[in-house]
Amino acid sequence: MLVTLPPVYGWGVEGHSIICKIAQSRLSDTAADAVKELLPKWAENDLGSVCSWADQVRFRYQWSPPLHYINTPETCSYLYTRDCKDDDGVTGRCVAGAINNYTSQLLTYNSASNQSQYNLTESLLFLSHFMGDVHQVYVLRNPQSIENFKFHHDKTTLMSIITALACGVCIRQGRQHHRCPLVHKKGSSSPSEERFYDSNLDSMVAAIQQNITSEWADQVKRWESCSLNKTACPDIYASEGIKAACDWAYKGVNQDSVLEDDYFLSRLPIVDWRLAQGGVRLAATLNRIFG
Ligand SMILES: [Zn+2]
Repeated sequence: MLVTLPPVYGWGVEGHSIICKIAQSRLSDTAADAVKELLPKWAENDLGSVCSWADQVRFRYQWSPPLHYINTPETCSYLYTRDCKDDDGVTGRCVAGAINNYTSQLLTYNSASNQSQYNLTESLLFLSHFMGDVHQVYVLRNPQSIENFKFHHDKTTLMSIITALACGVCIRQGRQHHRCPLVHKKGSSSPSEERFYDSNLDSMVAAIQQNITSEWADQVKRWESCSLNKTACPDIYASEGIKAACDWAYKGVNQDSVLEDDYFLSRLPIVDWRLAQGGVRLAATLNRIFG
């Protein structure tokens, strides 16, 4: 029997895990307690270990795939009213709508009625995952909708970029392994290459956290803030993601491009930066939710 592995989307397990580990380290005591209570016991209070659950149930929960992305027209902008809908045109069925929805559900935690009508464990896992998805640089669009694709690199995962950077291997192109347009040549050992060469999650998390408290420290307040005293602000993150995709991920790239050191080395800081933003904002959102 031929077993086909499900395709890996977006950040992949590693990217989601990094975002959730960063987030969990920034929770207020109240939020940390709520997260601990809501996490499944087997997760042993490690939010990072369950942040890809939403990808695992993607096909079991048949209503859920459109919640992982946003299809924008061929522009570098995003508008909720125009873009946040599924293929049937149902408004709100995109990653930004999903973040709003699961935030609302989690706000019923500790509500007066004491018994939420929602499965808040699932709400937490969905929110934590979608907060990662909305911060993607490479895959904000539907991986299955070819007509909305400019490039086939959309299925490229974070780890495959890192692997390519570190090892000079081809990047796996989603389900199709035909040609490999992204090839990295081994170059000189720059600090960022060295860092990713022995990349393991904990050292990446530590490196990003280090940047959050130094290089990006003056941006963090802005990342955390949410307009109009809202609890979650996914529209801001989605707009940034579309712009980052235009300005960085796909800029100067077409399907036949051979991307070398300068591409990876110039884009990796953007990947780090988005992971940091995702982690900081997930924490800020959970802190607002749980008080
Ligand atoms: Zn996803």
